[in-house]
Amino acid sequence: MTLDDLGRAAGTTASQLSLVENGRREPRLSLLEAVASTLGTTTAELLSPEPPSRRAALEIELERAQSTGTYASLGLPVVRPGKSFPTEALEAFVGLHRELARRADAAIATPEEARRATTALRLWMRERDNYLPEIEDEATALVARTGYSSGALTHRAVSQMADHVGFRLIHVDDLPHSTRTVTDLANGRIYLPPASIPGGHGLRSLALQAIAHRVLGHRDPTSYADFLRQRVEINYFASACLMPREQAVARLGEAKARKDLAVEDFRDLFGVTHDAAAQRMTNLLTSHLGLRLHFLRVGADGTLFKGYENDGVRLPTDTTGAIEGQVVCRAWASRAAFAQHDRATEYYQYTDTPEGTFWCTTQTGTATGGAFSISVGVPFAAAKWFRGRETTTRLASRCPDPACCRRPEPGLAERWAPHAWPSAAVHAHVLSPLPTGTFPGVDEGAVYAFLERHAPGRTG
Ligand SMILES: [Zn+2]
Repeated sequence: MTLDDLGRAAGTTASQLSLVENGRREPRLSLLEAVASTLGTTTAELLSPEPPSRRAALEIELERAQSTGTYASLGLPVVRPGKSFPTEALEAFVGLHRELARRADAAIATPEEARRATTALRLWMRERDNYLPEIEDEATALVARTGYSSGALTHRAVSQMADHVGFRLIHVDDLPHSTRTVTDLANGRIYLPPASIPGGHGLRSLALQAIAHRVLGHRDPTSYADFLRQRVEINYFASACLMPREQAVARLGEAKARKDLAVEDFRDLFGVTHDAAAQRMTNLLTSHLGLRLHFLRVGADGTLFKGYENDGVRLPTDTTGAIEGQVVCRAWASRAAFAQHDRATEYYQYTDTPEGTFWCTTQTGTATGGAFSISVGVPFAAAKWFRGRETTTRLASRCPDPACCRRPEPGLAERWAPHAWPSAAVHAHVLSPLPTGTFPGVDEGAVYAFLERHAPGRTG
């Protein structure tokens, strides 16, 4: 039916109908009724947002897809699917448009977007003093079912926890390279890499993180921010299981009462890494013991890998507000500790900064990526609760004033500027291992082939 045909039958003009059709004029109820009765339908049906048929739905979707800026930018003709346009071709067009939109979305997860998402999440955690009570509750409930009372959570307890949520832990050496663990939902199995060090504690954390996805009801992440939030949540859950809140707060409270808080003691009590222990302290010290603090993981060249603060210390940031990959002041304990001869024990230091004086305890170590330092720091007034407060090491930092440790002394610059040619290193982006290709970078084919190998024909 042409607009003319319909206009004649409904007692109006084609131009009036065209105005309504293009959304330039609101139709009167009487016109709607006339159009409805002419088309042999009801006004309710006419106003329903649901397409009347699959074919109509496809036509509408194609029209919308072709009206986007993304499509216009391609300079391709706009297709008007008339009656003779095959439904099959319509399906193909719409399918291509959907894929185009999905790829455009995936491409938005550029490193800069990722940095913004990381920063937003860090600030969100900071507002909560790095404490997530709902996840603590889930962890507490699951740990309680193993009969845990104190000390390090055993591998056996972790297996029991998996059991409680309906999974068996299986170690294999052929996990697809794009995955850390694979969960077989059909047969209730969690596949993990083999233990590289028998009895090593790293795998408890990995297993707990896999369990966490299940316990916290995670779905396929819809964006990079969502993916990141899930990562933070499973890490938090694993930490809350390995260092259960009640026991951890009790031990920290006792140490504080003795004025003997120490990351190393907390670490050894629960058999976790220094990094994990220090981060766990940021979850609990503010929320339960009223101490504000900061945490830093820094590379030997001063690059900040991870950081958290709610005590006012000024972490270096880039223009997007991201801290990862920035360089911390040379005077900070995180860097000064590398110069120490005895790296087996913690290094203590007071640092005067424009934001006030902070006391820090730093432990250095070496990983596959090189040497690193882990620091926990508090404002001057809170140092009295910590072991190492009596240190006489005190350095001054004026960063972000470039004259602090970035700009050379005037005499040096004058003498060397005409005779020096530094060849710049390409900035090694901390977030370079971001997923490439389709989000979130998991090779699905490899995962399905892996499951078929381990549970052939059983997945239905
Ligand atoms: Zn500095």
